[in-house]
Amino acid sequence: MLPLPDEVPVLVAGGGPVGLTVAALLARQGVASLVAEADEGHCSGSRAICISRRSQEILATVGAGEALAAKALPWTGGRSYWRDREVLHFQMPSEPLQRFAPMVNIQQYHVEAFVHAALQRVPQLARVAFSTRVLRVQPGDDGVQVEVEGPAGRQQLRCDYLVACDGGRSTVREQLGLQFEGTQYEGRYVIVDIVQKTRRPVERLAWFDPPSNPGSTLLMHRQPDDVWRIDYQLRDDEDAQEALEPRNILPRVESHLRMIGETEPWQLLWASMYNAKCLTLPSYRHGRVLFAGDAAHLVPIFGVRGLNSGLDDAANLAWKLALVLEGGATPVLLDSYSSERVQAARENIAYGAKSTEFMAPPDFAFRLMREATLRLALDEPAVRSLINPRQSAPIAYTRSPLNGPEEGAWSSAQAAPGQPAPDALLRGAHGDFHLSQCFGTDFTCLVFGDGSLPRAVAELAAHGIAVLDIAPEADAHGQARLRYGLPGGLGPTALVLVRPDGYVMGRWRGLDPAPVLACLRAKGIEP
Ligand SMILES: Cc1cc2nc3c(=O)[nH]c(=O)nc-3n(C[C@H](O)[C@H](O)[C@H](O)COP(=O)(O)OP(=O)(O)OC[C@H]3O[C@@H](n4cnc5c(N)ncnc54)[C@H](O)[C@@H]3O)c2cc1C
Repeated sequence: MLPLPDEVPVLVAGGGPVGLTVAALLARQGVASLVAEADEGHCSGSRAICISRRSQEILATVGAGEALAAKALPWTGGRSYWRDREVLHFQMPSEPLQRFAPMVNIQQYHVEAFVHAALQRVPQLARVAFSTRVLRVQPGDDGVQVEVEGPAGRQQLRCDYLVACDGGRSTVREQLGLQFEGTQYEGRYVIVDIVQKTRRPVERLAWFDPPSNPGSTLLMHRQPDDVWRIDYQLRDDEDAQEALEPRNILPRVESHLRMIGETEPWQLLWASMYNAKCLTLPSYRHGRVLFAGDAAHLVPIFGVRGLNSGLDDAANLAWKLALVLEGGATPVLLDSYSSERVQAARENIAYGAKSTEFMAPPDFAFRLMREATLRLALDEPAVRSLINPRQSAPIAYTRSPLNGPEEGAWSSAQAAPGQPAPDALLRGAHGDFHLSQCFGTDFTCLVFGDGSLPRAVAELAAHGIAVLDIAPEADAHGQARLRYGLPGGLGPTALVLVRPDGYVMGRWRGLDPAPVLACLRAKGIEP
């Protein structure tokens, strides 16, 4: 085993999905990092399974997209039942020509393995040290001193920046004496993975008070390798340890499988206990220590925002940290990581709390309201949206200090500054491609011109900005102009600046690149 270096530009504490993705995104920016992971390998057991479209984009950026697509099960909607009657059939926005399904199901350990495999293709820029635990952290003005313990014993390591991705029980958070803010719900769920062959479509399935498990709420998701995820709520008077005994799990699962007509033989794979937490640090930047993923926030699993928002943290942080390390921005840029992602965590927590309160009503009043909603939803389609689980979606940074101006009138707010840049199918010399494939590493200026690319605009490239000419023939499907607020074949001209993490920074009428450069300069950024 190679000895650990004494010094690295970035040390990532924790090699879960978020830490590995931070390292992979930094590597794409040419920044070297070391990931210290306490465990011997990737996570096991029942954890995240639902990966959003935005996460699929991020995972594709780091080179894990093909493996993910080959293994994961795509899905677009779900059904909810009250007792034995369907009360909701929802569909997430999706269209046939989209790059990714709105959601795919895959076990978290596969995601970790795919990102790790991508990292192993750039050994000069990233290394994962398993069985290596971060013990002590001493932040200083010009670096962070970290004590780690690995197979060769204890060692001191110096890094320019420490990214804490060491999960919900973060050692780094504890070392810095930081506390989460928020609440923890009392409702407990048993999370069970079983192996059973099925021919059911891949959908999110939810039952409220099903005849198989009266009084409980139960969720089912298909995963690859013939695995079902089943989550069911415990009664308040049930003992958690007892509930995890196979003798208590098997009859509940069997009763439900029988109720829905799944009769193939099955066996238990994993079981664990879960209870929802709505917690966040108030700031994700503490000098040269940055927090991401579960180390920074814990959001309820209902609505699947935990890992998905952690990957968004990684995407937001990596380009900013790279720019700061390369001297293209001052460390102040990292404050925008904290403000944008804390705002996102608070929104995710608000959505997650609503879903949790519907799944497991915390008191009599909530229970009464839920029962009334479910009863009404049987006959009233308008009420059904209240049952919709509102699955994870990227959060807009509407109040970000990085947002540029938006001058003039635009026919769509979808691409306003601070919004995730809408995807669009474009036509290139070698066939169709998606706009989102162009994001992930550099600032990109989308040029909505009138057929010719003015020399001044092309020169943005000399300032480190990728220029993408969306000429009328490139926008053959008419999606880009429509979604960026410029309808009509040869409509008005405009420039749209997209950040490396695929968020719109500013948009300007006309084809003058000067305000684009001025905007970056005003934010202290020299790409
Ligand atoms: C039952 C369940 C279902 C879920 N379903 C979903 C879902 O469908 N979609 C979704 O988006 N999210 C889901 N989540 C949440 C998701 O699993 C987490 O948000 C995700 O694991 C966070 O990733 P992370 O890398 O931040 O932290 P973790 O996955 O916790 O990784 C942290 C890593 O740090 C390591 N570590 C800890 N301390 C140290 C140390 N001192 N030194 C070095 N390494 C250390 C740990 O060994 C671990 O590998 C679910 C969670 C649960 C429990």
